[in-house]
Amino acid sequence: MTFDELELDPAILQAVHEQGYTNPTPIQEQAIPAVLAGKDLLAGAQTGTGKTAAFTLPMLTRLAKGSAPTNKFGGKGIRALVLTPTRELAAQVEESVRVYGQHLKIKSCVVFGGVGMNPQIDRIKRGVDVLVATPGRLLDLAQQGFLDLSTVEILVLDEADRMLDMGFIHDVKKVLKLVPKEKQSLLFSATFSDEIRELANGLLHDPMSIQV
Ligand code: AMP
Repeated sequence: MTFDELELDPAILQAVHEQGYTNPTPIQEQAIPAVLAGKDLLAGAQTGTGKTAAFTLPMLTRLAKGSAPTNKFGGKGIRALVLTPTRELAAQVEESVRVYGQHLKIKSCVVFGGVGMNPQIDRIKRGVDVLVATPGRLLDLAQQGFLDLSTVEILVLDEADRMLDMGFIHDVKKVLKLVPKEKQSLLFSATFSDEIRELANGLLHDPMSIQV
């Protein structure tokens, strides 16, 4: 299969070609049509399988179709939220969003702890479509009133098992209460413990399951 056969937005397809990719990886081949169709997704995948593009490409295609809702501050609302366990992964995912979305008018931002909050607050206030975040900092920003997550259409939990291993389960559950019930949810994990299954059962509705 080639990327051209997947129904990605032409501007995103162009960015994929510019990266030199011609063929989707197995997880991309399975995940992209399901995410484009609006399905929830439960994906078992390790790093290195191409999982980032597996959710980023269809997520951006869906965002390219709609327009940003207004948030409670009167600005552009956040439409997609990606949670990751570490700042390194958050930065990598946001870089992918930038690369694949470079020919679209989609704004992204990454927030994580250990650095000043003010630049992150300023950035969010200016309006972002895609927010990539670690759970702790995201909650801090939300609890201090700087974040409106009520406009989120797509939620991604990336490396959910590591997120739980690092003790973020309570933070993740609190974040889930701040996003709308009606949304598309995608959960990626390398391993599946009872705790991950419980999290998935609570979050995902009739998900498509993929294991690579
Ligand atoms: P990931 O599993 O998301 O961390 O991706 C692993 C690496 O594979 C990254 O460096 C990507 O840039 C690269 N990659 C992702 N999708 C493809 C593809 N379809 N063809 C070639 N390389 C890819």
